[in-house]
Amino acid sequence: MSTDMDTIVSLCKRRGFIFQSSEIYGGLGSTWDYGPLGVELKNNVKRAWWRDMVYRRDDMEGLDAAILMHPKVWEASGHVAGFTDPLVDCKECKKRFRADHIEGTVCPECGGGLTEARQFNLMFKTFLGPVEDDAALAYLRPETAQGIFVNFANVLESRRRKLPFGIAQIGKSFRNEITPGNFTFRTREFEQMEMEFFVEPSTANEWFDYWVHERHNWYFRYGMRPENVRLRAHGDDELAHYAQGCYDVEYLFPMGWSELEGIAHRGDYDLKAHATASGRNLTYFDDKTRQRYVPYVIEPAAGADRATLAFLVDAYREEEIRERKRTVLKLHPALAPFKVAVLPLLRNRPEVVETARKLYADLRRFFPADYNDTGAIGRLYARQDEVGTPFCITIDVQTLEDQQVTIRDRDTTEQERIGIDRVRTYVQDKMVIE
Ligand code: ATP
Repeated sequence: MSTDMDTIVSLCKRRGFIFQSSEIYGGLGSTWDYGPLGVELKNNVKRAWWRDMVYRRDDMEGLDAAILMHPKVWEASGHVAGFTDPLVDCKECKKRFRADHIEGTVCPECGGGLTEARQFNLMFKTFLGPVEDDAALAYLRPETAQGIFVNFANVLESRRRKLPFGIAQIGKSFRNEITPGNFTFRTREFEQMEMEFFVEPSTANEWFDYWVHERHNWYFRYGMRPENVRLRAHGDDELAHYAQGCYDVEYLFPMGWSELEGIAHRGDYDLKAHATASGRNLTYFDDKTRQRYVPYVIEPAAGADRATLAFLVDAYREEEIRERKRTVLKLHPALAPFKVAVLPLLRNRPEVVETARKLYADLRRFFPADYNDTGAIGRLYARQDEVGTPFCITIDVQTLEDQQVTIRDRDTTEQERIGIDRVRTYVQDKMVIE
């Protein structure tokens, strides 16, 4: 069973991972800011995704589309008419709930009667330019996917791509969620990591299976515990209007199994809809078969904030090692905010401090490192364990003689002596992903 959410929220605040937004004004509901360590962790999650989805494949292109898009995009995609959640109000306490999230027919807070469900559109509206009228209406995108569909032909042509290939994108999305909550799990502003994979229609089912397994396994590659991750197939009644099939990768969050990522078989729904609405040709010509068709699409859509939260929850341990209690974040070295901490043992010996500072400066040319000489070594280790730093290096007087340092492993707490000139490659080797 995973840790409770309050423990994670409090560690995140105490150690600079995640703060409540606008906290000095009392906070803004369900809005969070990533602090010094949180921004590193989330960037590392996004970097890991990008590296595996884009750099390490030869069938992928990257994209960074604008958040604001032509309003017709959202009509064509079905979002204006259909991107809604059923909303019910409690007649007594006036709280609002998503009808599909509550069991029974009374208010889960006070037991009062509920109104009939009505549809509530989740898109945030805004206005382009100084006049706030319908002609200037625009939406903050509720997903990044549509930016990919409208650029399908641009990417295909500019990169002379053949099918199958994918377009990957990471960026902010906005949804006016009725009931946000559970820390960063459901917020109104969040980041998505989405990819649309375009294929010849008869191969779509095979590619769907491929991506479901590929994305499920991705989380294990970065050390997530297998018992906390599962795949769940959507029932026919759950499928979105565009989907021919859908799987969720679910994580055992403190509030129970919840969606981390969805992998959908979207058929030719999106490209067809945009071709019809824009009047542009969004077909693909296959020179081998001399046929023209609308590609089918497989979409793995993940959340950067949700993945970051899941990695945090999964890494969190309270344990006793060598008769000492400690809190440790066993984050994969590729995800850890600091890869290493340099800790001089004798801060009143100038040569020791100088050697430590020099190593620290050298390592920072390659990856984020921390430096601390302000406490007893036990306390310094404990602080690094709590933020998930995989390695601590101590420099002592002997280092001055033999050019060796002590390197301590976060997970085993074991220590070994290695040459000071080997520290960088030692740490870098542990960050490599198979
Ligand atoms: P849910 O059912 O939880 O509302 P969804 O099925 O509508 O999610 P998708 O549209 O499939 O979500 O979005 C893909 C991914 O984007 C989700 O798996 C999740 O990781 C992330 N995501 C979606 N909505 C939010 C949100 N409000 N806050 C944080 N992440 C989100």
